[in-house]
Amino acid sequence: MRIPYQIKCLGCNSDEPVYIPLEDISPEWICEKCKKHNLFQLDSEITIGNRLLFRAQFELDKNRDRSMCVVLAAMAFEGELARAYRLGMKWKIIRAGDDPGLKDFEDSYMELYGYRNKLKEVCKLLKQQDFDHFASKSERYLTAIKEHSWLTVGKFVDDIGKFVLVPRNRIIHQAKSELSDGVATKTWSTALLTIDLIKEMRKLFLQDSKATIPDPTQQRGTAVDQARDK
Ligand SMILES: [Zn+2]
Repeated sequence: MRIPYQIKCLGCNSDEPVYIPLEDISPEWICEKCKKHNLFQLDSEITIGNRLLFRAQFELDKNRDRSMCVVLAAMAFEGELARAYRLGMKWKIIRAGDDPGLKDFEDSYMELYGYRNKLKEVCKLLKQQDFDHFASKSERYLTAIKEHSWLTVGKFVDDIGKFVLVPRNRIIHQAKSELSDGVATKTWSTALLTIDLIKEMRKLFLQDSKATIPDPTQQRGTAVDQARDK
């Protein structure tokens, strides 16, 4: 999969979208117009969820493909959730005094059925009571719900189902791909809010983890660095 980024060419200032492979965080490309060789470093805050959302937005704005936007936005949420799960699992192992090595935790994640259950597990691993409780304390959420009239205060977990996963399921389970711009935009915006909140939760967890484990990088550099960065 390739993600279209709006990166300016350093040779001719062209801002035609550049299609970069999903995993590439320091892409190099040659401008089609002026043949300049460009280098770019993606901000580390642009996570898997954000990258998939870029593609989702591109599908809506440029290709007018609303259902593809919805499918990708739902994938973005799921990608970010799995990423948070991996982080929590790695730290669980580190806290137990072991080395998570290169484990990817895909098997144990696959065993968690349904988004509610997955969210619950991630909250447990990242030391939060539950996702609705976490959201209700977040400035990001409190600001967003004023703009996103479709959301119900205090019911964000339900809303993720309603506005992100149900529209996606109608497309991939029932082949109902005709939908309005409004539906696609709601899905995209709700997925973005969810991803932001998961990232916020990760950040707080990492701050807390660094505070409670004394100088972990000194103890087991590689493992902790991996856990922090992934
Ligand atoms: Zn150029």
